[in-house]
Amino acid sequence: MMRAAHSIMSDMPSTPAVPSDFIRDIVSEDAASGRHRLVVTRFPPEPNGYLHIGHAKSICLNFGIARENNGRCNLRMDDTNPTKEDVEYVESIQADVRWLVSGWADHVLGLKPRGAHAEASTIHGRPDHSIAAIRGSEAAGHDLEPFFASDYFPQLFGFAERLIEKGLAYVCDLSPEETDRYRGAPDRPGQESPSRHRTVAENLDLFRRMRSGEFPDGARTLRAKIDMASPNVWLRDPILYRIRHATHHHTGDAWCIYPMYDFAHCLSDYLEGVTHSICTLEFEVHRPLYDWLLGALDLARPLPRQIEFARLNLGYTVMSKRKLLQLVNEGVVTGWDDPRMPTISGLRRRGVLPGSLREFALQIGVTKFNGLTDVAVLEKCIRDDLNRAALRRLAVIQPIKVVLTNIAPGESIACEATNNPEDPASGTRTVHLTREVWIEQDDFMEVPPPKYFRLRPGGEVRLKYACIIRCDEVVRDATGAVVELRCFADLTTRTGQPNAGRKVKAAIHWVSATLAVPATIRLYDRLFTEEEPEKDGRDFKSVLNPHSLRVVQAWLEPSLAGATPGERFQFERLGYFCLDASSPPQSLVFNRTIALKDSWAKTKGE
Ligand code: ATP
Ligand code: MG
Repeated sequence: MMRAAHSIMSDMPSTPAVPSDFIRDIVSEDAASGRHRLVVTRFPPEPNGYLHIGHAKSICLNFGIARENNGRCNLRMDDTNPTKEDVEYVESIQADVRWLVSGWADHVLGLKPRGAHAEASTIHGRPDHSIAAIRGSEAAGHDLEPFFASDYFPQLFGFAERLIEKGLAYVCDLSPEETDRYRGAPDRPGQESPSRHRTVAENLDLFRRMRSGEFPDGARTLRAKIDMASPNVWLRDPILYRIRHATHHHTGDAWCIYPMYDFAHCLSDYLEGVTHSICTLEFEVHRPLYDWLLGALDLARPLPRQIEFARLNLGYTVMSKRKLLQLVNEGVVTGWDDPRMPTISGLRRRGVLPGSLREFALQIGVTKFNGLTDVAVLEKCIRDDLNRAALRRLAVIQPIKVVLTNIAPGESIACEATNNPEDPASGTRTVHLTREVWIEQDDFMEVPPPKYFRLRPGGEVRLKYACIIRCDEVVRDATGAVVELRCFADLTTRTGQPNAGRKVKAAIHWVSATLAVPATIRLYDRLFTEEEPEKDGRDFKSVLNPHSLRVVQAWLEPSLAGATPGERFQFERLGYFCLDASSPPQSLVFNRTIALKDSWAKTKGE
């Protein structure tokens, strides 16, 4: 796959204040030409899974355009396929969109008052379902809901009848297999269905009987009468309705015929007064059908227009609900919100801020060319955001004990620690140095290589925010393993003391062994070992990273006992961590959002 031009660079271009791309250009031109009075976009997920970061790109684009144009963006469930959809997905989608655009004005939130079907007000000549939600806003929250394509089933049925009356649709008796066979291939024209020349009256009668449940699944379809020889196979009498005796999560048992995507989508856009229907490139070949259907029904202007852009493909992940569902169902991950998943809920649980995803969407931009986005671009957005926002804390994840021999047992020395050097307003806190402290095993080496500046026998290192210590003695257990380091703490090198300015080459983090609180830390890594898990048709499950989750026990500075679920911190020198949303009250479970540096960059040989 072609690598996109925006792969990571050390000097990443800063994001322009007002984004600009070919879609935004089209929207501006349309607005200037007076084609419509309000820019209306929509984000139309099918509720058959949780949203992933590819959807985040689409959300940022659609809601972003609405926001920039003082227009609006409808969140619409594209729920025309009863068998794969579920309310669980409807609810997760709503929560994820809310989170991703949090902080943006209500009118771009894309919801409507619950149960609203028609309002006195109109938009582009259509009933404005959302007017109260747009202007009434704040209090609303709980009584808002998304739009549902399935709410339009009655109108869509009416549009289908109108097509039949105009001689532009017919009921077809071919089986699904015959329909496929008759369609032909791109290089070979299709063959007309024997049902194609039914009278209008016969078609209307059969279509209404399909709706009333007279026929079994697959017995008949409603098809548009277009052109079986069209070079575009989507125009070869596409199916508009099929029979499905199934309970729908939103309409229950009211319907046993369901409209196909192509029929429902353009008309749902139309009914909502959508002006720009933005979708991914696969739908470019559907656009003639989108326009044909709207044109055939003689609808009032302005008509929505479809614009396509390249979908997001991200390194080291798979990006389709079907494949993500497979990871969930097969227990590869713990659920849709497993912090290793590229889902919005997974990223949130991992500790990613919504602004990082919005910044990522701006940086990758919008193009017409499918490419592969370097995951380092995303990781940099996450780090930069957390660097500004996260409070610094001390934690030790692979501890070795240090005994400071000149500090008495029970003595505790208050030290002032900076909360966030990027944000002076965040102030300082007190951490206590005691006789026994934990440091990382990595920060001590008995026989260090050249350029190792941390602790060694007889060597010195600074305990951050405290003082310089010197390693006088290494204590071993019966097996010879190092279990304790006995050190001298030079208390004259503390802040405010005469030797505060004395320099040593390294400063390490530590926690008081007597005061620290225990925690479980989940160290997450990429889910796949290959940048393109499905390259050359490979099964993505063959390149799962066996080390994508490592669980360790750690010691944290005592202030972290008061952390609230979802709260994010930088554990100094270790990375960014977030208290897991379902961390039980009496214990602390932290997820590592991301390490401080990209440790993969060097292993990739770049
Ligand atoms: P999936 O293949 O993951 O199921 P989908 O396209 O079927 O995705 P929908 O629920 O139909 O998922 O998508 C809702 C919207 O999100 C559509 O407008 C679609 O174009 C957009 N979208 C989906 N995947 C991506 C992606 N990877 N990059 C950008 N936009 C995407
Ligand atoms: Mg889909």
